[in-house]
Amino acid sequence: MPELPEVETVRRRLEPSFVGRRLERVEILDARLTRPHDPLEVAAELTGERVSALDRRGKYLVVRFESGRALLIHLRMTGSLLHVPAGAGAEADPHRRAIVTLDDGSAVVYRDVRRFGTWLLTEPDEVEPYLNARLGGEPLAPAFTTKRLGEALANRRAPVKAVILDQRRLAGVGNIYADEALWRAHVHPLRPAGELGEDELRALHRGIRAALKAGIARQGATLRDYRTPDGSSGRMQHEFKVYGREGEPCERCGRPIEKIRAGGRGTWFCPSCQPFDGTTST
Ligand SMILES: [Zn+2]
Repeated sequence: MPELPEVETVRRRLEPSFVGRRLERVEILDARLTRPHDPLEVAAELTGERVSALDRRGKYLVVRFESGRALLIHLRMTGSLLHVPAGAGAEADPHRRAIVTLDDGSAVVYRDVRRFGTWLLTEPDEVEPYLNARLGGEPLAPAFTTKRLGEALANRRAPVKAVILDQRRLAGVGNIYADEALWRAHVHPLRPAGELGEDELRALHRGIRAALKAGIARQGATLRDYRTPDGSSGRMQHEFKVYGREGEPCERCGRPIEKIRAGGRGTWFCPSCQPFDGTTST
């Protein structure tokens, strides 16, 4: 948390107020955010930059500047970005880690309860190499085909869930949307990734995209700290098919959802719709 749909929601909501604006004043209140770089130096470097685009790659927000540099923001566990209109008094908040005042008087405020989030300022020639070294294909990009998914999973004996969580294989899918995608695809989370057949790969490809798109359409899922830039909650948490629903009936078959561990993570699935051997049990 947050995963691709949450980060994409932040990107879409922040874009109109951020792009074209100059960073007038930058205060970084927590040295952990820019580690190992000095927060005062990073703040000074950012001041005066003008935002040319707000992109997303995997779970990273990519704030691109006219200079060609980019600020890579990773929200990790509990990071969020709020847009505060000009003249709105900022209320006291002990979890505020950075404040960026824009040239129209509004501000972008970064808050993070657990403080795992990161801000990394990259030079123009560093941006793409940095991201490409850490991230596999974008599951919502047109280039992400069933064939590409098959290549990402090929020859892997690890559970399919662990492999689709690996950001270097597939960018942006985390624990929630992995479970949701596997349920949609009728694939058991512990199946060895490299053993999926052509039909299963096609179903998983569809399932991943459908789960992510459902999340974006509902502005992401708010379990604890995630907020959209206007401070409101996402709605996807009300529509999970399996995630967090242990013991509740599967909406397809009525069997109770079960919880196991896969890839070291709590994992929810339907034992009837997602049989391990690929044949539906009775
Ligand atoms: Zn079921």
